[in-house]
Amino acid sequence: MTNEELWRAALGEIELSISKANFITWFKNTSILSNNDGRVIIGVPNGFAKEWLENKYNLYILKALRNIQPSIKEVSCAIGSEKENAFRENQVDAIIPPKRVVFEKPPVEKNFQISQENNLNPKYIFENFIVGSSNELARAACYAVSQNLGRIYNPLFIYGGVGLGKTHLLQSIGNEILKKNPSKKVKYITSERFTNELIDSIRTQKINEFKEHYQKIDLLIIDDVQFLSGKEKTQEEFFHIFNYLYQLNKQIVLSSDRAPKAIPTLEERLRSRFEGGMIADVSKADFETRMAILSKKAVDEGLTISTTALDFIAQNITHNIRELEGALNRVIVSSQLTNREPTLDYVSALLSDIIASGKKKGITHKHIIDAVSSFYDIDTADLIMKNRKKEVVKPRQVAMYLMRSELQYSYPGIGEKLGGRDHTTAIHAYDKISKELEFNKKLLEDVASIKEQLYNIS
Ligand code: ADP
Ligand code: MG
Repeated sequence: MTNEELWRAALGEIELSISKANFITWFKNTSILSNNDGRVIIGVPNGFAKEWLENKYNLYILKALRNIQPSIKEVSCAIGSEKENAFRENQVDAIIPPKRVVFEKPPVEKNFQISQENNLNPKYIFENFIVGSSNELARAACYAVSQNLGRIYNPLFIYGGVGLGKTHLLQSIGNEILKKNPSKKVKYITSERFTNELIDSIRTQKINEFKEHYQKIDLLIIDDVQFLSGKEKTQEEFFHIFNYLYQLNKQIVLSSDRAPKAIPTLEERLRSRFEGGMIADVSKADFETRMAILSKKAVDEGLTISTTALDFIAQNITHNIRELEGALNRVIVSSQLTNREPTLDYVSALLSDIIASGKKKGITHKHIIDAVSSFYDIDTADLIMKNRKKEVVKPRQVAMYLMRSELQYSYPGIGEKLGGRDHTTAIHAYDKISKELEFNKKLLEDVASIKEQLYNIS
């Protein structure tokens, strides 16, 4: 595979995981300059793109590249394009990273104007947000703010991993406010766009207009503030706007992928401002919440699908709700196109590529044995050795089931890994657990939790 093919394939994946606007802004005119010993250098058109790709998209890029070439370990960026640099393919170490320039001209439209819209997506409302233990505090805090603007939690800071509903919650506050009082000035903006607009307003000498615009706002929602990290000038402006609004009891709501403490190079005074209000986190949704989200969405979209097929999706896609929705959308579109009912077999074949990517993570039978033992709180030795006690038999069968379903081990192989048992024992265990999963909800949840633990270790 050439670098160009590799990069094209990776871009295909990245495009699916970020917004179109960001994709075009940051990935246009990029290429792979070199790929040696697991170290990939991406060529970018300017210092701004370098800073952005390295700070914000590094993980996406790494993940996409590793899905294609698992040997890739590290990604960095350098200014340059494939063509100019092709001749120095073997001496890329000589490419000197540019000095970090925070205020380089960003690639945005020429006739800059501060966006006047509220930027809210009307589909993000409290009514269609499913509440579970992973998000109930955050949801309650957001709802409370929408009922007591500027009066209870100010600022409100919501943090948690990608695709867990932060943006949905933040925008729900805005939509709720406007529903009750359309004359309120609500503004939702991502910290990246905020930064871009700020930089452009400086470039076009409209900084006063920029400030005035923000100072008129009743509810300011800034999403993904972790991207303010390392942008000193933006932080400074933001601090002033923040203080001004705060003093007037205007509401500020922020989100980030981590707690304020954990955002590197966030100015101390800004950090303490963020920490001065209410902080709530969203964590990974549990199995039941995932099922509830899927069922609701299936109903909303008019999809008839069996619970077993939904179970399968909820069991296998555990990390984030966006992926969960993406998987269901795929099922919806594809079953409409082919006019077929989405049975379990159909769904598992359709999603095999997404789900298989979880399996490539170097999980072995040892991980399964550990995860099962720790889940059922028994000794790994008991699980492996000849021990017919009831409390060990079931977990052992679950372990056998998982070795088959997750790692596709052969039955004799499974028997061997579990204390030299006969392959018929492994077949029996697999069949028994598969059947039981169809009706035993408790077992279904147990297996889902074990899998979650399994896929988190790597
Ligand atoms: P984040 O901002 O944390 O990355 P998003 O708010 O963009 O995540 O959520 C990703 C997708 O998942 C959105 O389409 C959102 O509507 C949906 N989603 C997330 N959590 C829930 C939930 N609890 N109930 C319903 N939909 C949800
Ligand atoms: Mg978001």
